[in-house]
Amino acid sequence: MEISRRELFQKITTGGAAIAASGGISAALTGVAQAEETPQVPPHALGMLYDATLCIGCKTCVVACTQANGLTPDTRTDPLHQAPADLNNHTKTIIKLYKEADGQTSFVKQQCMHCVDPACAAACMFGGLKKDKNTGVVTWNGKYCVGCRYCEVACPYNVPKFRWEGFNPEIVKCEFCKDRLAKGQEPACTTVCPRKAVIFGLREDLLKEAKRRIAANPGKYHEDRVFGEHEGGGTQVLYLSHVPFDKIGLPQPGNESIPQKYLKWQKRLYSYLVLPAGLYAVLAGTIRKNWKDHEEHLEEEEKASGLRAQL
Ligand code: SF4
Ligand code: SF4
Ligand code: SF4
Repeated sequence: MEISRRELFQKITTGGAAIAASGGISAALTGVAQAEETPQVPPHALGMLYDATLCIGCKTCVVACTQANGLTPDTRTDPLHQAPADLNNHTKTIIKLYKEADGQTSFVKQQCMHCVDPACAAACMFGGLKKDKNTGVVTWNGKYCVGCRYCEVACPYNVPKFRWEGFNPEIVKCEFCKDRLAKGQEPACTTVCPRKAVIFGLREDLLKEAKRRIAANPGKYHEDRVFGEHEGGGTQVLYLSHVPFDKIGLPQPGNESIPQKYLKWQKRLYSYLVLPAGLYAVLAGTIRKNWKDHEEHLEEEEKASGLRAQL
């Protein structure tokens, strides 16, 4: 049976504390049991390899991403050019320039990392974000999203962005151009890169290619390491860089996945029960507030269009 977002919201907020005290807790415990399984790289994990030493910062990939995903070019900081300062609710990928006092520079491409164990999906109690069991691509489904924005908070790479402009709110993030993938095409950004600084394929092949480059070029890459092989439980977007990864905005979360870490901490402090219930209550409150804001926004729009019709 299909359930609309409005119906879902009503079930959550009217169920409130009662659900948190009964079904909510058992659902949370089910979540704990599921999340305790060690995350595995999916059998046909798709991925990207970005090699910062090859990137020339042309931003062709950013423009291609905007076009392929039907996004509005972000000219908010510069009316003549598409020059977003960071990932935002119109921008699924961005090229940034890292520059140090000693003159060392590097470009870096940012987008969703398609984590092996995605914190965004683990944080979403309603299945709004899902990792495909076969390809590992992490996608958003508006049918189940209630606009709580907990995925935004949970993501260690600060990727999901919330768009509240149309009738339905949206979470904006790279989904590996899922419409292109469905047609057998590769993502737009990897298709257009003139330097092949970002390439697409199976994660295991890309990892081999990254290691081949490291072996063939001693001393060229930072720590002779591929970022994403193990970090945070592993990611399907992999990086090679000549400057330290933390300097180009890639945090060092350790090798344990964020959901695994979080659940261990949760178990010690709350013996399985208190935090899930508390979290649920906070979420229900946040959702209620977001929905109220949304309804007010709609009412204002309706009034404004009524006024326009009268003029
Ligand atoms: S980078 Fe963030 S949004 Fe992307 S899969 Fe990982 S946790 Fe989710
Ligand atoms: S895969 Fe598609 S959505 Fe993701 S960064 Fe590349 S062009 Fe953008
Ligand atoms: S298209 Fe390629 S070279 Fe140009 S900015 Fe993007 S990743 Fe770098």
